[in-house]
Amino acid sequence: MALDLRDYVASIQDFPEKGVTFRDISPLMGDGEAYHQATDEIIKFARDKGVEMIVGPEARGFIVGCPVAYALGVGFAPARKKGKLPRETVKATYDLEYGESALYLQKDAIKPGQKVLVTDDLLATGGTIAATIRLVEQLGGIVVGTAFLIELKDLNGREKIKDYDMLRLMEY
Ligand code: IMP
Repeated sequence: MALDLRDYVASIQDFPEKGVTFRDISPLMGDGEAYHQATDEIIKFARDKGVEMIVGPEARGFIVGCPVAYALGVGFAPARKKGKLPRETVKATYDLEYGESALYLQKDAIKPGQKVLVTDDLLATGGTIAATIRLVEQLGGIVVGTAFLIELKDLNGREKIKDYDMLRLMEY
């Protein structure tokens, strides 16, 4: 019997600030069966799309994407914050509530024409994933899909990535 993955998401009121409900996937990651079930669904999605490479933003994008890459026998490239990647990089900025942030990808991470799946734990406003997609496209990669464990519907991040096929396992 399939598990209800929502049973493995903890909801924390007023974190990281008042009025925000943080969805924590630690219980899902911490349970072998739940982590396996969630990963299997993403593997199926990725396999159908002929994915050749996976890219995820730090840090929980790695947790979602790496086991999928391993299962498919394809590579994984981390999109990271400033100062983390040792060689030449491309950069994409995105807006935060106050100010701006940036993600980087190493220049040789993607081969032009490669079919790429972009993964993260959660879609909120969509800024993080849209920046990750732009990094892949700067390097000539073809983003064939996005995959998340959770979509926060009210923030409408979906609108920012509407040109891409999206899989999400849960919504709040
Ligand atoms: P966005 O850029 O607004 O879509 O925010 C998504 C990014 O912020 C993802 O990388 C998430 O890991 C993180 N994030 C935002 N809200 C939550 C949450 O409630 N739980 C876990 N991660 C979150």
